[in-house]
Amino acid sequence: NPVLPRPRRTRVFVVANQKGGVGKTTTAVNMAAALAGSGARVLVIDLDPQGNASTALGIEHGEGLPNIYDVLVDGEPISKFVYSVPRFPTLFAVPATIDLSGAELELASVVAREARLKRALDVYIREQAEAGQPLDYVMIDCPPSLGLLTMNALVAGREVLVPIQCEYYALEGVETLFRIVDLVRELNRDLVVSTVLLTMYDARTRLSAQVAENARENLGQAVLRTAIPRSVRISEAPSFGQTAMTWDPGSPGALSYLEAARELALRDPWANSVETDTSTDT
Ligand code: ADP
Ligand code: MG
Repeated sequence: NPVLPRPRRTRVFVVANQKGGVGKTTTAVNMAAALAGSGARVLVIDLDPQGNASTALGIEHGEGLPNIYDVLVDGEPISKFVYSVPRFPTLFAVPATIDLSGAELELASVVAREARLKRALDVYIREQAEAGQPLDYVMIDCPPSLGLLTMNALVAGREVLVPIQCEYYALEGVETLFRIVDLVRELNRDLVVSTVLLTMYDARTRLSAQVAENARENLGQAVLRTAIPRSVRISEAPSFGQTAMTWDPGSPGALSYLEAARELALRDPWANSVETDTSTDT
């Protein structure tokens, strides 16, 4: 893969959308693999109890195995749970297991419960930099809800990446997500919705074109020029414990994630971000 410029500091992306099935996990793992394939050091944090990102990256995540739950609930260091992703020398992942499904309730009574991930991640990022192997990107894959797990991701991250499925009601719910981002900004001043990615784009349908147009109209420069096409190769890769990047690197799906990753690496997140502060609307 072509070499991309590496960021001066770690870019922490929160892949979020409270709707299920819009392509969060697919985007988190394929973007991560595309960036890692260009030489960047990338960490994927699976924050969904379903563990789909862990599956797609070929990392074991059966019930009871060590996972991100231990970081969030027991305050263990992230470094204990970082696994190497097969086939990618610079791609790493922290898995999630079904044990995480209890975390929202268990955290409810903990002090600073929405900052648990941030505390652990900041330490890990610093450790990696001090060890002379700084992380370039972190991709946090969120569950399909706006609960305490997604809150932890938003507090820990700098940039929100919102996958939008090119389907009916695509933009429904996005306002709610933006309102939460706005609230979280009281704790995490620098958080921006820097990136929107159109997924499962079907060039044969008018609907996809309409959703894309609507998104670009409403969300402006944050929307990447590259849209991810609907592709069987993308959807079948996880069942082989792989991303599309290795499963079928020449497929249109894999190439589109490569192109989207390139855009992401080359653009200024702050110049392109969505204005989510609705309080100043006239
Ligand atoms: P989320 O994490 O938002 O719930 P997923 O990434 O798991 O969404 O995607 C939902 C389903 O759609 C999965 O079965 C996935 O394989 C499939 N999928 C995602 N992106 C594509 C695509 N571009 N083409 C075809 N299928 C896709
Ligand atoms: Mg998912």
